[in-house]
Amino acid sequence: MKKAISQKINYLRLSITDRCNLRCFYCNYWREGDKLPAPDILRYEELLRVAALAAEIGLRKVRVTGGEPLIRRGVVDFLHKLHKIPGLKEICLSTNGVLLQDLAPALYDAGLRRLNVSLDTLRRDRYREITGRDNFLEVMTGLKRSVSLGFHPVKINCVVLKGINDDELLDLALLARDHSYQVRFIELMPTGPLEEWQRYFLPMAEVRRLLSVLGAPEPVAPEATAGPAQIFRLPGFEGELGFISPISGHQCATCNRLRLTAAGQLRPCLLRERQIDLKGPLRQGAADHFLSHLFQQAVDLKAGRSFYPLEQLPPLHCSMASIGG
Ligand code: SAM
Repeated sequence: MKKAISQKINYLRLSITDRCNLRCFYCNYWREGDKLPAPDILRYEELLRVAALAAEIGLRKVRVTGGEPLIRRGVVDFLHKLHKIPGLKEICLSTNGVLLQDLAPALYDAGLRRLNVSLDTLRRDRYREITGRDNFLEVMTGLKRSVSLGFHPVKINCVVLKGINDDELLDLALLARDHSYQVRFIELMPTGPLEEWQRYFLPMAEVRRLLSVLGAPEPVAPEATAGPAQIFRLPGFEGELGFISPISGHQCATCNRLRLTAAGQLRPCLLRERQIDLKGPLRQGAADHFLSHLFQQAVDLKAGRSFYPLEQLPPLHCSMASIGG
């Protein structure tokens, strides 16, 4: 008999690659040196087995992420199979949107409806400075195409960077006035050198102050599997705004997620180095009950969590791309 995982931990983030087609200056994975050798990345059949097991023990939501998931060959077929796993109620994809204009129809046909697209600026030149690539127009076309195909929700994730994009937060928020997007502002996390993080970090309270000219925000009740965003509606807005404050908001107590890295490590907490190896047992032929037991261990590690006061926040000596954001 499998032990049921506590109801609260119901969300698994699956990183399917550590590769990315952008070079965002604050996401320092590409400075870390070598990428994982391809055989070290979990194969699709391994990822599907893990996802099925997660569903069996009570996880309900899976987010496919990376690196950039859309650059992995076979991703559409993988998503199609993921949608067939009984028990998974919500399957989402996080992407930088560069390949969305081409792949959106196939992703829709594979059953996908929920998209998060990362976009930190609405200016083409600034996009190139932030990401090291000139793909702004492709991302905007991909976003529009996704909405017209019927993807919903389409969420836009914007990492707030002091001195870089804080002069256009209002413009980004207004995307949610004119379209059905949920535009979410995210605090920068210390994945690279601490001085760099201090230079660019802007607390969410400041973001909300800058956006207060838009009117009084009405809180929206979160879905049961929702992540840590606080969601609001504003008068006259077609879409919504979201605020994610991993630094100033200390959301350990409400965190409902586990992460599986592309290297097959189950990570209970983004901010802690501790990981549980799933790939070894998977490749040595472990039975389902043993793998479930490892999931349970990850949940138990979360239960013993504590809050990180801001001044004790550990720098993450790795990147979001390697952990899966
Ligand atoms: N490539 C996909 C994408 O762009 O959404 C998925 C992976 S990407 C690592 C996930 C998200 O993490 C992106 O929105 C990116 O901006 C964000 N991210 C990367 N480094 C970050 C940091 N230090 N603090 C906050 N968010 C970060």
